[in-house]
Amino acid sequence: TATEDATAAAATTTHILVFPYPAQGHMPALLDLTHQLALRGLKITILITPKNLPALTTLLSTHSTSIDTLVLPFPPHPKLPPGVENIKDIGNSGNAPVTASLSKLEGEVIQWFQAHPSPPQAILSDFFLGCTQQWATHLNIPRIAFFSVAALLTSILTHLWQHLDKLHSSDIIEFPGLPLSPSFPQHHLPSIFRNFRDGDPDWEIVKEGMLANSKSWGYVYNSFYALEGEYLDNIQKELGHHRVYNVGPLSLIGLSKSSDTKYEVLNWLDTCPDGSVLYVCFGSQKLLTEPQIRALALGLERSKTRFIWVVKSVSSQQVPDGFDERVSDRGMVLRGWAPQVEILHHKAVGGFVSHCGWNSLLESVTAGVMLLAWPMEADQFINAKLLVEYTGLAVKLCQGEHTVPDSDALARIIYESLGQDIPQKARAKAMSNKALEAVKAGGSSAAALDELVKELTQLGV
Ligand code: UDP
Repeated sequence: TATEDATAAAATTTHILVFPYPAQGHMPALLDLTHQLALRGLKITILITPKNLPALTTLLSTHSTSIDTLVLPFPPHPKLPPGVENIKDIGNSGNAPVTASLSKLEGEVIQWFQAHPSPPQAILSDFFLGCTQQWATHLNIPRIAFFSVAALLTSILTHLWQHLDKLHSSDIIEFPGLPLSPSFPQHHLPSIFRNFRDGDPDWEIVKEGMLANSKSWGYVYNSFYALEGEYLDNIQKELGHHRVYNVGPLSLIGLSKSSDTKYEVLNWLDTCPDGSVLYVCFGSQKLLTEPQIRALALGLERSKTRFIWVVKSVSSQQVPDGFDERVSDRGMVLRGWAPQVEILHHKAVGGFVSHCGWNSLLESVTAGVMLLAWPMEADQFINAKLLVEYTGLAVKLCQGEHTVPDSDALARIIYESLGQDIPQKARAKAMSNKALEAVKAGGSSAAALDELVKELTQLGV
């Protein structure tokens, strides 16, 4: 129709500056969303530092004409080792310094913008990059905050933010105004909130980010209504934020992550019965302590269950001597980086021991695999509550960053969860169908994405 033609023509002229946060748990999801925006005719420039550029290779080659890059050097910061441009090399403790460092790019971005023949009409940036709200204000364009975390987390942090005094007055923090009235012991809340101190530069960065996000034009969530409907609604009501777009799980509509490599681990999975293998992996960064490694090794050994255990290839992560040989008939220790999404989608996999990072959680839910939750830090306790208590998609395995679990208890939970027809398995399958429905035409996430594209397109008219 004429209206559709007009919208398509306008879309080709709408230009968005995308600024991802350099961490494994943040960047891929925003690039998946960028892929969708480019497919729908929006013109994109991605702001990136040199060492993170290779992460864009596939996206750039897929959309050769509609995606440009603005490559700027990573500004140095006294708390960051020189040469580091991604959180994978420094761990969560680097989050606030990386944000502070990237905020220094403001002058260069504004110069680039002012010299550009057709500058962007909006900035779409990670929620850790609150600084971009100020850039957008200077440039007089809207900023959209992309949340690579749970809507439940944002609801809780927003509430905490309004009641910081609670943190100093009680051990158990309650959130009676939120759906399902969550409550947490203090030490299960993200550490920057627990230990906040005015004047601490890291806390000031987080504060600035919270304030900036609350002023942004719109919120985009890598989540979906069947999983987090109450909280997505709550964000609209609590924050009075009318533009909340739940577009996830983005991995279902992003660029394919599968590679041509035929991983040995997938060949091995082909030989295992359906639903018989436990996949164990604690995300892209987390290192276990030596006693935790020993306890987990013993638990896996005693569970008599098939497993794949992803162990980081650094010297501190050695499994006990002889472990590989003792379990060789039914277990595989995978050193380094695992093709997680492909493993989870293999029909031999029946459970996932996870730290409950948001991406791992979504990937497991999308694949219809129940989780065995071992939250350790950051937002993971909050995600685990959503999984274990609210949606019943996970079994509780253990909790705590320094907790050393009892090996016999681990073995028993693993053996019973994998071996029996427990309700978490059926719920995970049902939730995976809902995730698929959400991103199909007419589904809640597809509709939200259409709406987002429509509104962004109008900015270019
Ligand atoms: N991941 C992977 N292979 C690994 C470890 C991690 O593919 O060996 C991916 C995983 O699929 C997920 C991301 O890294 O997409 C980890 O993100 P998450 O939010 O779960 O945890 P984080 O790394 O931020 O703690």
